[in-house]
Amino acid sequence: MPSLSSRRPLVLLALIASVVAIFLLDTLTDYAVAAACFYAAVILAASRVLSPRGLLALAVACVALTGLSFVLTRFGTYRIGLVNSVIGMLVIAITTWLTLKMEAAKAAVEEAQARLLRVARASTVGELTTSIAHEVNQPLAAIASSADACQRWLAQEPPNVDKARQALSRILADAHRAGDVIARIRGLTRGAAPQRDTFDLNQAVEEMLALSRSELDQHGVTVALLLEPDLPPVQADRVQVQQVIGNLILNAVDAMEGVAVAERRLSLLSRRDGQRITLSVRDRGIGLPAEQPERVFEAFWTTKSSGLGLGLSLSRSMIEANDGHIRAERVAGGGACFVFDLPVAIGDRHA
Ligand code: ADP
Repeated sequence: MPSLSSRRPLVLLALIASVVAIFLLDTLTDYAVAAACFYAAVILAASRVLSPRGLLALAVACVALTGLSFVLTRFGTYRIGLVNSVIGMLVIAITTWLTLKMEAAKAAVEEAQARLLRVARASTVGELTTSIAHEVNQPLAAIASSADACQRWLAQEPPNVDKARQALSRILADAHRAGDVIARIRGLTRGAAPQRDTFDLNQAVEEMLALSRSELDQHGVTVALLLEPDLPPVQADRVQVQQVIGNLILNAVDAMEGVAVAERRLSLLSRRDGQRITLSVRDRGIGLPAEQPERVFEAFWTTKSSGLGLGLSLSRSMIEANDGHIRAERVAGGGACFVFDLPVAIGDRHA
């Protein structure tokens, strides 16, 4: 389905044609025909493509055209024409005011949704980084103080090699401890018992798309939804899977930031593959690194100035915790494709 921003020129053309048609109707018909009221419909339709300032300019133009029609009309009773023109202008003004208020409310909701989506991602990432920082800090501080001591023992005249050796083995032990902490945290994210549920993956995709809609529209991304109908439910943690889908969508939006708006296409494709359901999220963005595209799943690997490089590493942990697999593929002609699969719910594993 083409995005609204790609249809904008067409919609604008249709709006101008409608305004001209209403003006002609209002001017060429009898004063008794209150054609100016139709401008209200144009203003409502225009609210989807015009900024508040543009909408206000359109409303002023409609009021002016209503006045001009009144002056130019040659048929009917002057008094009725006057009353109808004033009513028309009032309808235009009231519709514009209501539309502007409605659009402001809609923008507030969309902003809140986008923030929610970002927070959902950031809070998981934030929690993990804080715990890593906290746990790793202790052995690092111990390493630094042992290294100080080691330097002091070696600087003595004569150097106290024995004490220096002891300090060095403390450094080694603490370095191992730091490594163990990281391994434990990785194990935690991998092993965090998922809340298995059976749910419709297509519906989960549609929900995440709805949540990302304003983000996608803002960046002019066109979405192709190719969901296989009547898929059996999957067995997985719905919240975790939706976090992964949201993360893949946001990454795709980021990856297409640098390409022309007309090229910003995102496709989501679901299909059954034996006892598994597969979802592919494909974009036409900057693409994955030519060598080892799988590097994107490494923790802290990022090419973004404000990125943490944890989204995909967490996504992989979550998909694997749900007995699934996720992989990244380069797309011929530019772009990236992330594919994950999940098991079909036990009761539906036939055929
Ligand atoms: P972050 O988004 O914080 O950088 P991620 O783990 O989600 O962390 O992504 C790691 C890196 O993988 C990104 O910085 C980016 O370079 C690359 N990447 C992720 N998704 C895409 C994509 N759809 N297209 C191209 N590169 C991507």
